[in-house]
Amino acid sequence: MFVLSVFFGCLQVIIHELGHYFAYLAYGYSPVLHYESVSCSQPIESWSAGIVISVAGFGLTVAISLVCLTLAYLTKNLVFGSLGIVMALRNVVALPFWPTYGADENNVSVALGIPYFTLFIVVLLINLLTIGLIMNAFEKGRLGILTTTVSGGTIGMFLWILWLGPKMLP
Ligand SMILES: [Zn+2]
Repeated sequence: MFVLSVFFGCLQVIIHELGHYFAYLAYGYSPVLHYESVSCSQPIESWSAGIVISVAGFGLTVAISLVCLTLAYLTKNLVFGSLGIVMALRNVVALPFWPTYGADENNVSVALGIPYFTLFIVVLLINLLTIGLIMNAFEKGRLGILTTTVSGGTIGMFLWILWLGPKMLP
């Protein structure tokens, strides 16, 4: 479960970036996928496109974590539990590095005219609630599941950002 969580940690960063990447494509842009960002030489002209492209990153991982939450209750399968927890880890792990990490949420908050920390906090609370509810889906060994997936997922995220990602993507 630990090794799987490390893999999910890498996957979580990639899926976040793929969310941005596909949102760019959906608006007809030509984005470039990097290991921890997506760049685009064309300026984003519409206000709504800017919001959708920013939301797509954390929106995709939040959506997957909620699907896994449902599947964890339905199947009691630890793989869904682990994947769901790791997909919900982003803002938990980003918290000490905020506002550098969490810039997507900050940008969307500013675009919406609400205090810039609002959306980051909302997503963080959704993440924490998701993790808590996934824990609740399992009757036994909750502490073991939590420590294994959180430590594995966190290591996976850093492993991708600091070492593996730069070797595999620009
Ligand atoms: Zn992002």
